[in-house]
Amino acid sequence: MLTGKKILITGATGLVARTVAETLAEHNEVWCLGRFSDPQVAERLRERGMRIWHWDMARDPLDGLPEDFTHVLHAAVERGGGDFEDVVAVNSVATGRLMTHCRGAEAFLYVSTSAVYAPQALDHLHTEADPLAAASAWLPTYPVGKLATEGAVRAFAVTLGLPTTIARLNVAYGPHGHGGLPVILFRQMLAGEPIAVPREGQHYCSPIHTDDIARHVPRLWAAAKAPATVVNWGGDEVVGVADLVAHIGGLTGVPAELVPGDVTRAVSAFDGSRRRTLAGGCERTWRDGVRQALEAHFPGSVTATTEN
Ligand code: NDP
Repeated sequence: MLTGKKILITGATGLVARTVAETLAEHNEVWCLGRFSDPQVAERLRERGMRIWHWDMARDPLDGLPEDFTHVLHAAVERGGGDFEDVVAVNSVATGRLMTHCRGAEAFLYVSTSAVYAPQALDHLHTEADPLAAASAWLPTYPVGKLATEGAVRAFAVTLGLPTTIARLNVAYGPHGHGGLPVILFRQMLAGEPIAVPREGQHYCSPIHTDDIARHVPRLWAAAKAPATVVNWGGDEVVGVADLVAHIGGLTGVPAELVPGDVTRAVSAFDGSRRRTLAGGCERTWRDGVRQALEAHFPGSVTATTEN
Protein backbone atom coordinates (compact mmCIF):
# COMPACT_ATOMS: atom_id res chain seq x y z
CA MET A 1 0.00 0.00 0.00
CA LEU A 2 1.22 3.50 -0.87
CA THR A 3 0.97 6.04 1.96
CA GLY A 4 1.95 9.65 2.54
CA LYS A 5 2.67 10.40 -1.12
CA LYS A 6 1.63 13.42 -3.19
CA ILE A 7 -0.11 12.02 -6.24
CA LEU A 8 -1.33 13.67 -9.45
CA ILE A 9 -4.03 11.90 -11.45
CA THR A 10 -5.52 12.90 -14.81
CA GLY A 11 -8.72 11.29 -16.04
CA ALA A 12 -9.99 10.76 -12.49
CA THR A 13 -13.54 11.56 -13.57
CA GLY A 14 -13.47 8.64 -16.02
CA LEU A 15 -13.87 4.89 -15.77
CA VAL A 16 -10.26 3.79 -15.35
CA ALA A 17 -8.74 6.30 -12.94
CA ARG A 18 -11.61 7.09 -10.59
CA THR A 19 -11.36 3.95 -8.47
CA VAL A 20 -7.58 4.39 -8.36
CA ALA A 21 -8.00 7.99 -7.18
CA GLU A 22 -10.55 7.04 -4.52
CA THR A 23 -8.40 4.17 -3.25
CA LEU A 24 -5.19 6.20 -3.09
CA ALA A 25 -6.91 9.19 -1.46
CA GLU A 26 -7.44 7.13 1.70
CA HIS A 27 -3.74 7.34 2.60
CA ASN A 28 -2.20 9.95 0.28
CA GLU A 29 -2.62 13.52 -0.91
CA VAL A 30 -4.32 13.18 -4.29
CA TRP A 31 -4.72 15.96 -6.85
CA CYS A 32 -7.08 15.40 -9.78
CA LEU A 33 -6.57 17.36 -12.99
CA GLY A 34 -9.23 17.70 -15.67
CA ARG A 35 -12.05 19.73 -17.16
CA PHE A 36 -14.62 18.23 -14.78
CA SER A 37 -17.33 18.39 -17.40
CA ASP A 38 -19.61 16.85 -14.77
CA PRO A 39 -19.34 19.09 -11.66
CA GLN A 40 -21.05 16.44 -9.53
CA VAL A 41 -18.13 14.07 -10.05
CA ALA A 42 -15.73 16.84 -9.00
CA GLU A 43 -17.82 17.26 -5.86
CA ARG A 44 -17.68 13.50 -5.10
CA LEU A 45 -13.89 13.58 -5.47
CA ARG A 46 -13.66 16.62 -3.17
CA GLU A 47 -15.85 14.88 -0.59
CA ARG A 48 -13.28 12.08 -0.50
CA GLY A 49 -10.55 14.57 0.30
CA MET A 50 -9.06 15.06 -3.16
CA ARG A 51 -7.84 18.37 -4.59
CA ILE A 52 -9.38 19.50 -7.88
CA TRP A 53 -7.33 21.44 -10.45
CA HIS A 54 -8.97 22.60 -13.68
CA TRP A 55 -6.86 21.68 -16.69
CA ASP A 56 -7.96 21.31 -20.28
CA MET A 57 -5.13 19.39 -21.81
CA ALA A 58 -6.07 20.70 -25.25
CA ARG A 59 -4.92 24.19 -24.32
CA ASP A 60 -3.87 24.85 -20.74
CA PRO A 61 -0.33 25.11 -19.39
CA LEU A 62 0.26 23.96 -15.82
CA ASP A 63 1.35 27.30 -14.36
CA GLY A 64 0.64 27.58 -10.65
CA LEU A 65 0.28 23.84 -10.07
CA PRO A 66 2.66 22.47 -7.40
CA GLU A 67 5.69 20.65 -8.79
CA ASP A 68 6.45 18.35 -5.89
CA PHE A 69 4.30 15.38 -6.88
CA THR A 70 5.87 12.04 -6.07
CA HIS A 71 3.69 9.92 -8.39
CA VAL A 72 1.71 10.67 -11.55
CA LEU A 73 -1.03 8.61 -13.21
CA HIS A 74 -1.88 10.02 -16.65
CA ALA A 75 -5.15 8.47 -17.80
CA ALA A 76 -6.88 11.44 -19.49
CA VAL A 77 -7.34 10.95 -23.21
CA GLU A 78 -8.61 12.92 -26.15
CA ARG A 79 -9.88 10.13 -28.42
CA GLY A 80 -10.43 12.47 -31.36
CA GLY A 81 -13.51 12.93 -33.47
CA GLY A 82 -11.87 12.26 -36.81
CA ASP A 83 -9.14 14.91 -36.69
CA PHE A 84 -5.78 13.11 -36.72
CA GLU A 85 -3.72 16.29 -36.40
CA ASP A 86 -5.69 17.28 -33.31
CA VAL A 87 -5.55 13.92 -31.55
CA VAL A 88 -1.79 13.62 -32.00
CA ALA A 89 -1.04 17.22 -31.02
CA VAL A 90 -3.36 17.45 -28.00
CA ASN A 91 -2.34 14.17 -26.37
CA SER A 92 1.39 14.35 -26.99
CA VAL A 93 1.84 18.03 -26.15
CA ALA A 94 -0.24 17.74 -22.95
CA THR A 95 1.72 14.67 -21.91
CA GLY A 96 5.02 16.43 -22.56
CA ARG A 97 3.87 19.38 -20.46
CA LEU A 98 2.79 17.07 -17.64
CA MET A 99 6.02 15.07 -17.60
CA THR A 100 8.13 18.22 -17.72
CA HIS A 101 6.14 19.80 -14.89
CA CYS A 102 6.46 16.63 -12.78
CA ARG A 103 10.05 15.85 -13.73
CA GLY A 104 11.02 15.43 -10.07
CA ALA A 105 8.50 12.64 -9.47
CA GLU A 106 9.52 9.15 -8.37
CA ALA A 107 7.35 7.57 -11.05
CA PHE A 108 5.09 8.45 -14.00
CA LEU A 109 2.50 5.97 -15.29
CA TYR A 110 1.02 6.49 -18.75
CA VAL A 111 -2.13 4.53 -19.59
CA SER A 112 -1.85 3.37 -23.20
CA THR A 113 -3.95 0.76 -24.96
CA SER A 114 -4.03 -2.68 -26.55
CA ALA A 115 -5.32 -0.87 -29.66
CA VAL A 116 -1.71 -0.08 -30.63
CA TYR A 117 -1.08 -3.72 -31.63
CA ALA A 118 -1.39 -4.90 -35.21
CA PRO A 119 -4.29 -7.30 -35.75
CA GLN A 120 -3.43 -11.01 -35.44
CA ALA A 121 -5.55 -14.16 -35.27
CA LEU A 122 -8.56 -13.30 -33.09
CA ASP A 123 -7.38 -15.53 -30.23
CA HIS A 124 -3.71 -14.48 -30.40
CA LEU A 125 -2.21 -13.62 -27.01
CA HIS A 126 -0.26 -10.41 -27.62
CA THR A 127 3.12 -9.92 -25.99
CA GLU A 128 4.84 -6.58 -25.60
CA ALA A 129 7.13 -7.52 -28.53
CA ASP A 130 4.30 -8.02 -31.02
CA PRO A 131 4.02 -5.76 -34.09
CA LEU A 132 2.35 -2.40 -33.63
CA ALA A 133 -0.09 -0.73 -36.03
CA ALA A 134 -2.21 2.25 -35.15
CA ALA A 135 -5.12 1.23 -37.36
CA SER A 136 -8.75 0.99 -36.30
CA ALA A 137 -11.78 0.92 -38.59
CA TRP A 138 -13.97 1.50 -35.51
CA LEU A 139 -12.28 4.63 -34.12
CA PRO A 140 -9.46 5.60 -36.50
CA THR A 141 -7.94 8.51 -34.58
CA TYR A 142 -7.71 6.75 -31.22
CA PRO A 143 -4.78 4.35 -31.66
CA VAL A 144 -2.89 6.98 -33.67
CA GLY A 145 -3.11 9.39 -30.74
CA LYS A 146 -2.11 6.70 -28.24
CA LEU A 147 0.89 5.49 -30.22
CA ALA A 148 2.08 9.03 -30.90
CA THR A 149 1.81 9.74 -27.18
CA GLU A 150 3.76 6.59 -26.32
CA GLY A 151 6.56 8.09 -28.43
CA ALA A 152 6.39 11.36 -26.53
CA VAL A 153 6.36 9.49 -23.20
CA ARG A 154 9.44 7.45 -24.15
CA ALA A 155 11.29 10.62 -25.22
CA PHE A 156 10.47 12.63 -22.09
CA ALA A 157 11.25 9.67 -19.80
CA VAL A 158 14.79 9.58 -21.17
CA THR A 159 15.48 13.29 -21.60
CA LEU A 160 14.08 14.16 -18.14
CA GLY A 161 15.38 11.01 -16.46
CA LEU A 162 11.82 10.48 -15.19
CA PRO A 163 11.13 6.82 -14.23
CA THR A 164 8.14 5.85 -16.35
CA THR A 165 5.84 2.93 -17.08
CA ILE A 166 3.75 2.69 -20.23
CA ALA A 167 0.92 0.27 -19.44
CA ARG A 168 -1.06 -0.88 -22.46
CA LEU A 169 -4.48 -1.38 -20.97
CA ASN A 170 -6.89 -4.04 -22.20
CA VAL A 171 -10.69 -3.86 -21.83
CA ALA A 172 -11.34 -2.07 -18.53
CA TYR A 173 -14.69 -2.13 -16.81
CA GLY A 174 -16.20 -1.14 -13.49
CA PRO A 175 -18.72 1.00 -11.62
CA HIS A 176 -17.70 4.49 -12.80
CA GLY A 177 -17.77 6.57 -15.97
CA HIS A 178 -18.99 4.81 -19.09
CA GLY A 179 -18.56 1.44 -17.37
CA GLY A 180 -16.40 -0.17 -20.05
CA LEU A 181 -17.19 -2.72 -22.75
CA PRO A 182 -19.67 -4.91 -20.80
CA VAL A 183 -21.76 -1.87 -19.87
CA ILE A 184 -21.51 -0.41 -23.37
CA LEU A 185 -22.70 -3.72 -24.80
CA PHE A 186 -25.55 -3.89 -22.32
CA ARG A 187 -26.64 -0.35 -23.28
CA GLN A 188 -26.77 -1.50 -26.90
CA MET A 189 -28.79 -4.56 -25.90
CA LEU A 190 -31.26 -2.44 -23.92
CA ALA A 191 -31.66 -0.10 -26.89
CA GLY A 192 -32.23 -3.04 -29.23
CA GLU A 193 -29.16 -2.02 -31.26
CA PRO A 194 -27.25 -4.68 -33.18
CA ILE A 195 -23.78 -5.63 -31.93
CA ALA A 196 -21.24 -5.88 -34.77
CA VAL A 197 -19.18 -9.10 -34.64
CA PRO A 198 -16.61 -10.67 -37.00
CA ARG A 199 -17.90 -12.78 -39.88
CA GLU A 200 -16.09 -15.80 -38.43
CA GLY A 201 -15.14 -16.59 -34.84
CA GLN A 202 -15.23 -13.97 -32.10
CA HIS A 203 -12.92 -11.31 -30.71
CA TYR A 204 -11.09 -12.17 -27.50
CA CYS A 205 -9.91 -9.80 -24.80
CA SER A 206 -8.30 -9.81 -21.33
CA PRO A 207 -10.80 -7.72 -19.37
CA ILE A 208 -9.73 -6.11 -16.11
CA HIS A 209 -11.96 -4.69 -13.38
CA THR A 210 -11.11 -1.25 -12.01
CA ASP A 211 -10.60 -2.76 -8.52
CA ASP A 212 -7.69 -4.78 -9.91
CA ILE A 213 -6.46 -1.72 -11.83
CA ALA A 214 -6.34 0.19 -8.53
CA ARG A 215 -4.43 -2.69 -6.89
CA HIS A 216 -1.86 -2.76 -9.68
CA VAL A 217 -1.07 0.96 -9.93
CA PRO A 218 1.43 1.23 -7.02
CA ARG A 219 3.38 -1.74 -8.38
CA LEU A 220 3.37 -0.32 -11.89
CA TRP A 221 4.86 2.85 -10.41
CA ALA A 222 7.46 0.74 -8.62
CA ALA A 223 8.37 -0.80 -12.00
CA ALA A 224 8.93 2.61 -13.62
CA LYS A 225 12.29 3.19 -15.30
CA ALA A 226 14.01 5.48 -17.80
CA PRO A 227 13.91 4.31 -20.60
CA ALA A 228 10.28 3.49 -19.91
CA THR A 229 9.03 0.06 -18.88
CA VAL A 230 6.35 -1.20 -21.27
CA VAL A 231 3.77 -3.71 -20.05
CA ASN A 232 0.50 -5.22 -21.25
CA TRP A 233 -2.10 -4.46 -18.58
CA GLY A 234 -5.08 -6.80 -18.62
CA GLY A 235 -6.87 -9.32 -16.45
CA ASP A 236 -5.96 -12.94 -15.79
CA GLU A 237 -8.71 -14.45 -17.97
CA VAL A 238 -9.14 -14.46 -21.73
CA VAL A 239 -12.77 -13.86 -22.63
CA GLY A 240 -14.57 -14.04 -25.99
CA VAL A 241 -16.78 -11.04 -26.71
CA ALA A 242 -19.66 -13.28 -27.85
CA ASP A 243 -19.26 -15.20 -24.56
CA LEU A 244 -19.32 -11.89 -22.71
CA VAL A 245 -22.55 -10.89 -24.48
CA ALA A 246 -24.06 -14.30 -23.65
CA HIS A 247 -23.12 -13.82 -19.98
CA ILE A 248 -24.72 -10.37 -19.91
CA GLY A 249 -27.85 -11.79 -21.55
CA GLY A 250 -27.91 -14.63 -19.02
CA LEU A 251 -27.58 -12.24 -16.06
CA THR A 252 -30.18 -9.75 -17.26
CA GLY A 253 -32.55 -11.65 -19.53
CA VAL A 254 -32.02 -8.98 -22.21
CA PRO A 255 -31.49 -10.47 -25.68
CA ALA A 256 -28.65 -9.43 -27.99
CA GLU A 257 -28.63 -9.19 -31.75
CA LEU A 258 -25.18 -10.14 -33.08
CA VAL A 259 -24.64 -8.94 -36.65
CA PRO A 260 -21.57 -10.18 -38.56
CA GLY A 261 -19.73 -7.48 -40.49
CA ASP A 262 -16.35 -6.06 -41.48
CA VAL A 263 -16.28 -3.13 -39.04
CA THR A 264 -16.36 -4.30 -35.43
CA ARG A 265 -15.24 -2.98 -32.07
CA ALA A 266 -12.00 -4.97 -32.28
CA VAL A 267 -10.33 -5.99 -29.03
CA SER A 268 -7.39 -8.30 -28.41
CA ALA A 269 -6.15 -10.67 -25.74
CA PHE A 270 -2.87 -10.48 -23.84
CA ASP A 271 -0.10 -12.72 -22.73
CA GLY A 272 -0.07 -11.41 -19.16
CA SER A 273 3.32 -12.80 -18.11
CA ARG A 274 5.14 -9.48 -17.72
CA ARG A 275 2.18 -7.87 -15.93
CA ARG A 276 1.97 -10.77 -13.46
CA THR A 277 5.68 -10.36 -12.68
CA LEU A 278 5.52 -6.57 -12.29
CA ALA A 279 2.07 -5.95 -10.83
CA GLY A 280 0.73 -9.31 -9.65
CA GLY A 281 -2.49 -11.16 -10.41
CA CYS A 282 -6.14 -10.16 -10.32
CA GLU A 283 -8.73 -10.82 -7.65
CA ARG A 284 -11.97 -10.26 -9.58
CA THR A 285 -13.19 -13.01 -11.91
CA TRP A 286 -14.75 -11.59 -15.06
CA ARG A 287 -18.14 -13.22 -14.44
CA ASP A 288 -18.42 -11.71 -10.97
CA GLY A 289 -16.91 -8.39 -12.08
CA VAL A 290 -19.37 -7.98 -14.95
CA ARG A 291 -22.27 -8.72 -12.62
CA GLN A 292 -21.01 -6.04 -10.22
CA ALA A 293 -20.50 -3.46 -12.97
CA LEU A 294 -23.97 -4.04 -14.44
CA GLU A 295 -25.56 -3.69 -11.01
CA ALA A 296 -23.65 -0.46 -10.39
CA HIS A 297 -24.77 1.15 -13.66
CA PHE A 298 -28.24 -0.38 -13.89
CA PRO A 299 -29.44 -1.22 -10.37
CA GLY A 300 -31.88 -4.13 -10.49
CA SER A 301 -30.79 -5.20 -13.98
CA VAL A 302 -29.27 -8.49 -12.84
CA THR A 303 -32.17 -10.85 -12.48
CA ALA A 304 -30.33 -14.21 -12.54
CA THR A 305 -29.83 -15.61 -9.05
CA THR A 306 -26.86 -17.85 -9.91
CA GLU A 307 -23.76 -17.45 -12.07
CA ASN A 308 -24.31 -18.57 -15.62
P1 NDP B 1 -13.04 8.01 -20.03
O1 NDP B 1 -13.60 8.40 -21.36
O2 NDP B 1 -13.93 7.37 -19.03
O3 NDP B 1 -12.41 9.28 -19.34
C1 NDP B 1 -11.58 10.13 -20.06
C2 NDP B 1 -10.96 11.09 -19.09
O4 NDP B 1 -10.15 12.01 -19.82
C3 NDP B 1 -11.99 11.88 -18.31
O5 NDP B 1 -11.61 11.89 -16.97
C4 NDP B 1 -11.90 13.27 -18.92
O6 NDP B 1 -12.12 14.22 -17.92
C5 NDP B 1 -10.45 13.31 -19.37
N1 NDP B 1 -10.26 14.23 -20.47
C6 NDP B 1 -10.73 14.10 -21.73
N2 NDP B 1 -10.39 15.17 -22.45
C7 NDP B 1 -9.68 15.99 -21.62
C8 NDP B 1 -9.09 17.25 -21.78
N3 NDP B 1 -9.14 17.92 -22.94
N4 NDP B 1 -8.43 17.78 -20.72
C9 NDP B 1 -8.39 17.13 -19.54
N5 NDP B 1 -8.95 15.93 -19.32
C10 NDP B 1 -9.59 15.38 -20.36
O7 NDP B 1 -11.76 7.14 -20.30
P2 NDP B 1 -11.35 5.76 -19.63
O8 NDP B 1 -11.36 5.90 -18.16
O9 NDP B 1 -12.10 4.69 -20.29
O10 NDP B 1 -9.84 5.65 -20.14
C11 NDP B 1 -8.77 6.13 -19.37
C12 NDP B 1 -7.47 5.81 -20.06
O11 NDP B 1 -7.36 4.41 -20.28
C13 NDP B 1 -7.34 6.47 -21.43
O12 NDP B 1 -6.03 6.92 -21.59
C14 NDP B 1 -7.65 5.35 -22.41
O13 NDP B 1 -6.97 5.53 -23.63
C15 NDP B 1 -7.11 4.16 -21.64
N6 NDP B 1 -7.75 2.91 -22.00
C16 NDP B 1 -9.05 2.64 -21.62
C17 NDP B 1 -9.62 1.44 -21.90
C18 NDP B 1 -11.02 1.10 -21.47
O14 NDP B 1 -11.43 -0.08 -21.64
N7 NDP B 1 -11.79 2.03 -20.93
C19 NDP B 1 -8.89 0.39 -22.63
C20 NDP B 1 -7.55 0.77 -23.00
C21 NDP B 1 -7.02 1.96 -22.67
P3 NDP B 1 -13.10 15.47 -18.05
O15 NDP B 1 -14.14 15.15 -19.08
O16 NDP B 1 -13.67 15.68 -16.70
O17 NDP B 1 -12.19 16.56 -18.43
